[in-house]
Amino acid sequence: MDARLEAIRDTVLARNPGEAEFHQAVVEVFESLGPVHDRHPEFLEAAILERLCEPERQIIFRVPWTDDSGRVRINRGFRVEFNFALGPYKGGLRFHPSVYLGIVKFLGFEQIFKNALTGMPIGGGKGGADFDPRGRSDAEVMRFCQSFMTELYRHIGEYTDVPAGDIGVGGREIGYLFGQYKRITNRYESGVLTGKGISWGGSLVRPEATGFGTVIFTEQMLRTRGTSFDGRRVVVSGSGNVAINAIAKAQALGATVVACSDSSGYVVDEAGIDVALLREVKEVQRARLKDYAERRAGVAYVDGGSVWDVDASVALPCATQNELDSGAAARLVRGGLVAVGEGANMPCTRAAVSVFQDAGVLFGPGKAANAGGVATSALEMQQNASRDSWTFEHTEARLTDIMVGIHHRCAATAEEYGEPGNYVLGANIGGFVKVADAMLAQGLI
Ligand code: GLU
Repeated sequence: MDARLEAIRDTVLARNPGEAEFHQAVVEVFESLGPVHDRHPEFLEAAILERLCEPERQIIFRVPWTDDSGRVRINRGFRVEFNFALGPYKGGLRFHPSVYLGIVKFLGFEQIFKNALTGMPIGGGKGGADFDPRGRSDAEVMRFCQSFMTELYRHIGEYTDVPAGDIGVGGREIGYLFGQYKRITNRYESGVLTGKGISWGGSLVRPEATGFGTVIFTEQMLRTRGTSFDGRRVVVSGSGNVAINAIAKAQALGATVVACSDSSGYVVDEAGIDVALLREVKEVQRARLKDYAERRAGVAYVDGGSVWDVDASVALPCATQNELDSGAAARLVRGGLVAVGEGANMPCTRAAVSVFQDAGVLFGPGKAANAGGVATSALEMQQNASRDSWTFEHTEARLTDIMVGIHHRCAATAEEYGEPGNYVLGANIGGFVKVADAMLAQGLI
């Protein structure tokens, strides 16, 4: 790493002790930025990096609620408003027991660059709670969401901060959150949240957008080598919203997705995952992947283990951070891997990314490859602002254009900085320069 950046990195790490995921995200970005600072000494003089690494505002709050037996429960809620240079803070809410400040900060930090790469006017933020929705009734989830919003409402707004979903937060949770926001503020402020239901201000394609976008980005990478998804064997990790829609899109492009996973195990379905059945099991019944295997002939369910033991030529990690390490990466490379598109945020460890890059595997980092979700959130905000709603075809065409544009921006930036095909460098520099220029222009903020 560039010596000037090393000193800044050390200060950032020391100022944020015990936040391993945030450290990882910062170090990965810093490793790309040396050449930018050679060309733009003004970024160093204005301390852009030091400012970028310090969130503009961090809110941590108590979320009291009662479970169905009447017992009082307490969770911790977060919203980190990271960067406001390009537009309102924008990013999802994650409800998962692993959530703590370090996770929210890593996600918020990544979101700054991701959102900049989309070309849409959105800043970076993220939030969530250490609440575990698994096994909770609808009524419990509603009471939790209402309590969470009873604090969060004072910090958000169409022009301020616009949360959305992430792991553990989907259409149901956004509905309860929006209902409570409306009730407290007495405002039908559609643009305050994205991922809303279609009859009350949501956008078509938003549920599909992250998974679809990941596949569109990966297809663009494959095209640089004169190939495509058609006829390929693909492995996807996860079986939530991102994974399901990545599977659907990859199969629509002619691939066979032979495996996907949840936190208990994985399924191998050589005929190709049955997306309709997977949606029924996961989204309607909120059941486990094991139930998918029980309901379909010829499917093997592997309890525990790693889905990355299944050979494929394209891997789409769509589960969670650090789910794919260097050992798994080496195994996939030996099995004939050609491309990786990150549907989740930071699913590959830094060592795994090195293994892929050293082996000449096309590697699309999450902040580029999974930007389709937040980009379509920005399209939802546009529709809300103009009190309009677009067709599926029009919205999907916009998403496709945006993903092709992000691919182009990353590829062109990597080329410009002398590392053609390095999408990590392209995404980090492409996103950074846009935010840094805006911060410079807006004075000491
Ligand atoms: N949570 C998603 C992400 O990681 C989407 C955020 C949004 O739509 O605001 O980008």
